[in-house]
Amino acid sequence: MPDPIQHSPLTTLIHAGKALDYPGGRPVNPPVVRSSTVLFDTVAQQREARARRGEERLFTYGARGTPTSFALEDAVCALEGGYRTRLYPTGLAAIGMTLLAYLRPGDHVLMADCVYEPVRHLADTFLRDHGIRVDFYAADGSDLEARIEPATRMLYAECPGSLVYEMCDLRRLSALARRYGLLLVADNTWGSGLQYRPLALGADVSIMAATKYLSGHSDVMMGTVTTTEDAWQPLSTLADSFGIAVSPDDAYLVLRGIRSLAPRLAMHEANALAVADWLTQRPEVATVFCPALPADPGHALWQRDCTGTNGLLSFELRSHDLSAAERFIDALTLFGIGASWGGYESLATLSDVKRARSVGDWSGRGPIVRLHVGLEDPRDLIADLEQGLAAMGR
Ligand SMILES: *Cc1c(COP(=O)(O)O)cnc(C)c1O
Repeated sequence: MPDPIQHSPLTTLIHAGKALDYPGGRPVNPPVVRSSTVLFDTVAQQREARARRGEERLFTYGARGTPTSFALEDAVCALEGGYRTRLYPTGLAAIGMTLLAYLRPGDHVLMADCVYEPVRHLADTFLRDHGIRVDFYAADGSDLEARIEPATRMLYAECPGSLVYEMCDLRRLSALARRYGLLLVADNTWGSGLQYRPLALGADVSIMAATKYLSGHSDVMMGTVTTTEDAWQPLSTLADSFGIAVSPDDAYLVLRGIRSLAPRLAMHEANALAVADWLTQRPEVATVFCPALPADPGHALWQRDCTGTNGLLSFELRSHDLSAAERFIDALTLFGIGASWGGYESLATLSDVKRARSVGDWSGRGPIVRLHVGLEDPRDLIADLEQGLAAMGR
């Protein structure tokens, strides 16, 4: 098979991680290989496989991965443009194991103010309890260099950020990481490996919650971590030490989701932009947060570094009446009320941005609603939002 990295990402999505060879023909998709025990023909063969499996990816035991999870790793790795990929049972597990792989007691980490909120919780609890200090830097990275200390080991970025999608200049962060000898880790869940590519912008490690757009159908949890060759070994060794593995059935579902990632994202984008245009004209709405909008402060960086946007957008209501905001969401009929995003369906939630930030000042702002705009007809979604806004005044 030709090296998939040489193709356009759209082609990679279709051809990476294809089925194995069989005598005779073969299926289009790799089979679900359910296996704990893996059999060898001779003791010597088993001994040799065990000796090599720390560095090489070999099928030696279910906990070390299966041909199904290997196929998904290959597809994600080609998408991210990395050296190799490991899979985790959730996106948050992928983040937690990445932090543990590279940090030791006494180390200091600089994290973006806009990180996915459970990561902030991890920093304030487990990391702190284990002597790893975390400081937060402004979501746009402007105060980052001043916060670097002799003990700093890692820069942890999320671009665009969670909830209000702040952009930062990852290339600049990468230059700082090189200068100070730091590891640059990026949460790439928003970009899904298609619309943003942290490794190409100089990150050492890129993490995705495959739970979101890669799977795309709100029916599976998974995380992925892809690294450069230099960064690979500590991550892989830790995952082996902890016995981190994913189910082959889940790996199959994510690989299946990946095949339609590009057309789904294109439609999420078109629908979200239609909804955003409509929202910006509404008197009830103070601000729409989405870096693809020309008025967004991150727009120039988005134009430089992203190849598109997705179904996510948030907006601030002018009225500070929180119960009116709740009436709005409760009145929606096509938008589900629930956590996560990246499935085919629309969602609406109230976002507590103030609670999720410690550097940026979000006090004095109106309620912020996060939408995940799904694959429904945008005219129906807009009609639903319109009747929802009308219900606010009741
Ligand atoms: C959802 C999400 C995660 C965590 O993924 P789970 O699979 O839900 O654990 C991590 N980062 C970002 C930016 C997310 O949106």
